[in-house]
Amino acid sequence: MSRAREPRERSARASRPRRVREDARPALENTKPAPGERAPSPAKPARRRSGPATEFAALERRIVACERCPRLVAWCREVAATKRKAYAAETYWGRPVPGFGDPTARVWILGLAPGAHGANRTGRVFTGDRSGDFLYAGLFRAGLANQPESRARDDGLALAGAWVSSAGRCAPPGNHPTAEELDACAAHLADESRALARWRVIVALGGIAWDAALRLLAHAGAELPRPRPKFAHGAELVLGDRALLGCYHVSQQNTFTGRLTPAMLDRVLARADVLARG
Ligand code: SF4
Repeated sequence: MSRAREPRERSARASRPRRVREDARPALENTKPAPGERAPSPAKPARRRSGPATEFAALERRIVACERCPRLVAWCREVAATKRKAYAAETYWGRPVPGFGDPTARVWILGLAPGAHGANRTGRVFTGDRSGDFLYAGLFRAGLANQPESRARDDGLALAGAWVSSAGRCAPPGNHPTAEELDACAAHLADESRALARWRVIVALGGIAWDAALRLLAHAGAELPRPRPKFAHGAELVLGDRALLGCYHVSQQNTFTGRLTPAMLDRVLARADVLARG
């Protein structure tokens, strides 16, 4: 049974940040650096892992080592080598960027792709640029993050009840991955969905993430309405015990122009919380 609904106006609920789990931190201790690069230090020393933590660590390693899209692999390395002047002294990540957050999350935030000088520099999704500042401040207000800032992989940020990733894991030229590149990356999304066994709602940031989430749901056997629901800010698609929720992307083009305001993001996250609780 499925239904697509128009956005509902709900006032944002101010809630206190939840206690953040220790295992909500990234698990990238064993990833290999790009040729000629030294991997940034992990936030915590490596610990013995088992069960779901091992599954997530293996997934992260597969994503970080992925080279299926030669154009994107070359672009990420080129950006990492040439750098932006403001970050000339930093070592860029320059590789695919895995998801980040709470492995037991019920709310999954899905973006488009890493920013060339944001996640492609820092190695953590939505970290090190204005988009990330806007998103994680919202997650903090919603009680899903322990701090509003997201500056570097070792900045102490942890999420509780939320997971953040993107439809494409490599920074694309012009912020535009091709359809073929998104298709190639859909396999990582499917693996992530299986690992995130408790997710209940995907908040799709923009139309590309929305379409990727629809494909993911269809691939998992969900019967989608015809015609397929189109992306809109606040649009909802409920499929059994899982839901898809649309939100304008947190890019500067939207947040600097007022197309997406903090209050609008708060309302989406409040609605996601309701949907995630069933
Ligand atoms: S975009 Fe995805 S599939 Fe393509 S190289 Fe990057 S991680 Fe691999």
